[in-house]
Amino acid sequence: MNAAQRRALFERLRALNPHPRTELEYSTPFELLVAVILSAQATDKSVNLATRRLFPLASTPRAMLDLGVEGLAQHVRSIGLYQGKARNIVAACRILLEQHGGEVPADRDSLEALPGVGRKTANVILNTAFGQPTMAVDTHVFRVANRTGLAPGKTVRAVEERLLERVPGEFLHDAHHWLILHGRYVCRARAPDCPNCAIADLCEYRHKASAPEAGDVRAAQRAPGASRRPAVGRRRG
Ligand code: SF4
Repeated sequence: MNAAQRRALFERLRALNPHPRTELEYSTPFELLVAVILSAQATDKSVNLATRRLFPLASTPRAMLDLGVEGLAQHVRSIGLYQGKARNIVAACRILLEQHGGEVPADRDSLEALPGVGRKTANVILNTAFGQPTMAVDTHVFRVANRTGLAPGKTVRAVEERLLERVPGEFLHDAHHWLILHGRYVCRARAPDCPNCAIADLCEYRHKASAPEAGDVRAAQRAPGASRRPAVGRRRG
């Protein structure tokens, strides 16, 4: 995929969804941090169901620490791996209070030093809470980057670095949201919806279903619901 095609790809995804947001619900960087830790190997929907009950009770590191591992676990037990996640969150809260004045730090090293926070989670926090042009590569971004030819790579890190090199600057901040949503709702793992895909004619996936002509793509974009654009995440409050 050449530079002009990469630009066209993001122009189309932007046209379909000018202001992409995470589907996780949060109102502060701390709530986002908790939600992202909870979302590992779980759906955003399941996390939102739990945090709608949790955050009104505990929305700061101090309150979460007071809740304790057992108390927190009771609120998130519908989420996979909840016991380990509860332990990590409470341990992270202790570090936030002891080393960061109760605030979520805005630098990668400090974030990755928190229990339950790896490179992908740090990228999400840096991008979504602090506006940095990082590229969080999850399973959806990895699949779309490889299938389309946008940023092929054998490892998550390789795809992340190639995306950072290849995504035009004006799209860098929102690129990972567009790619996640495209992978989640259109370029699905098992049944990619190629006939209704707005970037089908740009995509290099060798197994894609027949790509529509350019005029058909524009018609598909105009058709109600054809973009499969999801309802974007809401910030509470
Ligand atoms: S054409 Fe198919 S494989 Fe390519 S991005 Fe669209 S849905 Fe994915």
